[in-house]
Amino acid sequence: MCGIVGYIGPREAYPIIIEGLKRLEYRGYDSAGIALFDGKDLKVCKTKGKVVDLEARSDKEITKHGSVGIGHTRWATHGVPNDVNSHPHISNSGDLVIIHNGIIENYESLKKELISRGYTFKSDTDTEVLINLIEDVKKQENVKLGKAVQIALNQVIGAYAIAVFDKNKPEEVVIARLGSPLAVGIGEDEFFIASDASPFLEYTKDAIYLEDEEMAIIRFHKGIKIRKIKDDSLVDPYIQKLKINLEQIEKSGYDHFMLKEIHEQPKAITDTYRGRLLRQEAIIKMAGVEDNMKKFLNADRIIIVACGTSWHAGLVAEYIFEDLARVPVEVEYASEFRYRNPVITEKDVLIAISQSGETADTLAAIKLAKSKGAFVFGVCNVVGSSIARETHAGAYTHAGPEIGVASTKAFTTQITVLTLMALRLARAKGTISSSDFRHHLLELEMIPKKVEEALKSDAHIQKISEIYKDVNNFLYLGRGYNFPVALEGALKLKEISYIHAEGYPAAEMKHGPIALIDENMPIVVIATKKGHYEKVVSNIQEIKSRKGKIIGIVTEGDVQVKELADHVIEVPETLESLSPLLTTIPLQLLSYHIAVMLGKNVDQPRNLAKSVTVE
Ligand code: GLU
Repeated sequence: MCGIVGYIGPREAYPIIIEGLKRLEYRGYDSAGIALFDGKDLKVCKTKGKVVDLEARSDKEITKHGSVGIGHTRWATHGVPNDVNSHPHISNSGDLVIIHNGIIENYESLKKELISRGYTFKSDTDTEVLINLIEDVKKQENVKLGKAVQIALNQVIGAYAIAVFDKNKPEEVVIARLGSPLAVGIGEDEFFIASDASPFLEYTKDAIYLEDEEMAIIRFHKGIKIRKIKDDSLVDPYIQKLKINLEQIEKSGYDHFMLKEIHEQPKAITDTYRGRLLRQEAIIKMAGVEDNMKKFLNADRIIIVACGTSWHAGLVAEYIFEDLARVPVEVEYASEFRYRNPVITEKDVLIAISQSGETADTLAAIKLAKSKGAFVFGVCNVVGSSIARETHAGAYTHAGPEIGVASTKAFTTQITVLTLMALRLARAKGTISSSDFRHHLLELEMIPKKVEEALKSDAHIQKISEIYKDVNNFLYLGRGYNFPVALEGALKLKEISYIHAEGYPAAEMKHGPIALIDENMPIVVIATKKGHYEKVVSNIQEIKSRKGKIIGIVTEGDVQVKELADHVIEVPETLESLSPLLTTIPLQLLSYHIAVMLGKNVDQPRNLAKSVTVE
């Protein structure tokens, strides 16, 4: 979950690493650190806090000179966030230095063994155990650093992306990955190491993505050698030409990435369906579905696995697939699915959803389903990510980089992909009429314009946010397709404003949450025209009778809810099945404005990290 940056080449490493860490800070941000070789010695500076804190500390503590270096921004798993637990970690001899993303699960037994051999530990981290294990192997076996890393990693259980170097041989950096991403940017006689390509985009567009169980030895002037960690076989480096540019990962005038990404949704949704939704021809083209149509048609059921916001997108998909394609769907938290011995057969299709494509629990669920013979289809945003590679087939969302930790455009583009899939399948199965199918295509094509319309309520939503920003609790209600949207709205608010919020199916309110309602409780009710409107209006009446404050998300021109609610926010009319793509927008803006008004760090909320690469 952390960010890793490294540099080896002719330039000063410090500014490259610091800027790179800032771009990766979304991955983890409780501590940061850097190690540089300044030509004579190793300089390490690390601190609890953010990259700016590291910069301030570096100004005082180290000469920021050196053309070999590694840096880290941490999301603590083992040991509280403090200076000592921050990375980089140094081996007992003081020679070897490491940064690590992931968890060494068997660190305790390794640590005991190392302690019995005289090693001492300053931190509580699993990472410090790994660097001393590497040192121990290097000494015992009398091997070079690369070999020592390889032998040590073969003793390790867990997940990692690491970068290591020896201050006595600083022209060489050793990296390795299992379960956590790692990219190498190839410049002219220089190399950049990073968790994703964003730290080196302005220097090079040539990148190698390390595969799981691969390690690389990078030598200044000599190039890169990649090997399999297990069997030592050499791997031919595959150099990709990156297509993303710097602008896509900058704020472009917005105060926060989250706001930028909310406003990018019209374009992101268009990019998602471009080349797939062909309205004139009245077809949907999706290679991953087309090539595996038999699997989909023969499936007894579809199991969707995901976590967090992606799980909510999965719930929306459950309604769409069942409604349009008449196939049973189960939506599972990946973390629960993998540990409950689920019944999976060869006739199951599993759809795994993850923005980053690196979510550890979702990856593990995929592996489990594959081992039982199920066909596995991935829906993710990051091209070349672990999930994209681990699945039999898939569809990218093409949302562009999402940097704000609270997902926005990932959610709506996931729903777009899943809708396209459901429609394609429905057509193949004959469960949708040709006119209904065309109608869906037309309406889906119009969604980006309608999202733009929905975004125009921004100023109005700001005013509502001002009124409710100081409450302690929020309730979100929705029915049918908009029940998952209620869950997502509540999650957004919790994530970035730290206000307690719960999402509920509107009718379930009577079975519990209604007890919470009093004159201090704001309740966001999604009450668009087509989705069980009359029933939701009755639910609103029930809230009103108990003096709750109602914020209604309604269809343009609504009259009935307007009369009952304290506030309404309008969204354009669309098909019920597509309404989540619009009703989500005001909920994103509401949570954004409340968080900003409360002075919270919107893009980097406490305790969270963007891609959850640990279990
Ligand atoms: N397990 C390591 C630690 O707690 C690395 C965590 C990370 O990925 O940031 O320090």
